[in-house]
Amino acid sequence: MSFAALWESLLPIGRDGSSGGYRRFSWTPEDAACRAWFTRAAAERDLRVLTDNNGNLWAWWDPPGSPGPGAPGGSKAVVTGSHLDSVPNGGAFDGPLGIVSAFAAVDQLRERGCLPVRPLGIAAFTEEEGARFGVACLGSRLLAGAIDPGAARALADAAGVTLAGAMAAAGHDPDGIGPADDLLAAVGAYVELHIEQGRALADLGAAIAVGEQIWPHGRWRLDFTGRPDHAGTATLADRRDPMLPFAAAVLAARQAAASHGARATIGKVTAEPGAVNAVSARVCAWLDARGPDERTLQAVVGEVLAAAREAAAGHGVELAAEPESVTPAVVFDQGLRERLASSLAGQDIPAPLLPTGAGHDAGVLAARVPAAMLFVRNPTGVSHSPAEHAEPADCAAGVRALATVLEDLACR
Ligand SMILES: [Zn+2]
Repeated sequence: MSFAALWESLLPIGRDGSSGGYRRFSWTPEDAACRAWFTRAAAERDLRVLTDNNGNLWAWWDPPGSPGPGAPGGSKAVVTGSHLDSVPNGGAFDGPLGIVSAFAAVDQLRERGCLPVRPLGIAAFTEEEGARFGVACLGSRLLAGAIDPGAARALADAAGVTLAGAMAAAGHDPDGIGPADDLLAAVGAYVELHIEQGRALADLGAAIAVGEQIWPHGRWRLDFTGRPDHAGTATLADRRDPMLPFAAAVLAARQAAASHGARATIGKVTAEPGAVNAVSARVCAWLDARGPDERTLQAVVGEVLAAAREAAAGHGVELAAEPESVTPAVVFDQGLRERLASSLAGQDIPAPLLPTGAGHDAGVLAARVPAAMLFVRNPTGVSHSPAEHAEPADCAAGVRALATVLEDLACR
């Protein structure tokens, strides 16, 4: 089966031998290896590969005699895809499952004797996780004009390397990044297959779901500034320890999320100077919050910040809090969603509707083109971890579902 061979060939790239987790960050040697893998998989299938101005990869299957996507008189393209980058120590499935399934679905369409009557594209979006430059879905945001190109070029990684510098070092011209309206205008539908994140399908007894909406979500940066001091000699009463209101914020995030049926997480923190025997001068923490609607999200963040402020004031600590990125709710195109549901139902593939708390390129693109998602069952729900998993039978069901949907959208 083509899926297994493709999967095996991608698996070793960027994998850490000891943890089994992945470190595939944009514009690194691991990223270059993923790009070479994509180009090879496309070439093996006679697909035409293009790298757009923002570094996103596209593999095109042109209908016989077609002038290609975006050409005058040509019909709008159907695009599927996902991303190949990972979070630090991420799992194998988040992103790659959508790309490998896309190539396998093309194979399945050919086996079924289907020919596209409109261009069929496979896209791999750059820096979806925001793991290197801090902005999630950077490649699709640039494509859709959802981030200023100048601001994007100046984004820096932990070592101070800018996006512009990293792109140039990888042989890609950073001056050309920005919206590609002609390319987007040529896309009539985008369907992203993705591993389920969180556990719902296991309880529903279904291998596949159709995406309903993406929860509104955002990242807030909290800077607690206190006074550095000696851990052994500074009396408790004299201390202005920023670690204490930070701890209150962590607990408040958990409590607010629980009371509102939402999610709130502090998963990244830095302490300065970071000495075992010193009261910290400064603690920086990042709050990730998500909720079923905007009002709930605002309520959760409001409660966390109020608790952090109160605790900071009680300990003589300054708190500066600001949003780094906030993404509103995305409800996927209803017409496209219903079309997916009916073509799956036509093949007796059960596919309940599922909302998600995770952001995706499909959510960014939904502002510009009809977009939809398919989820593949993740039995434990664990994601952004080496334990992320989907059973081979469910991966096969995903390929079949994607091929069914693409046949309906691109071959009729
Ligand atoms: Zn993903």
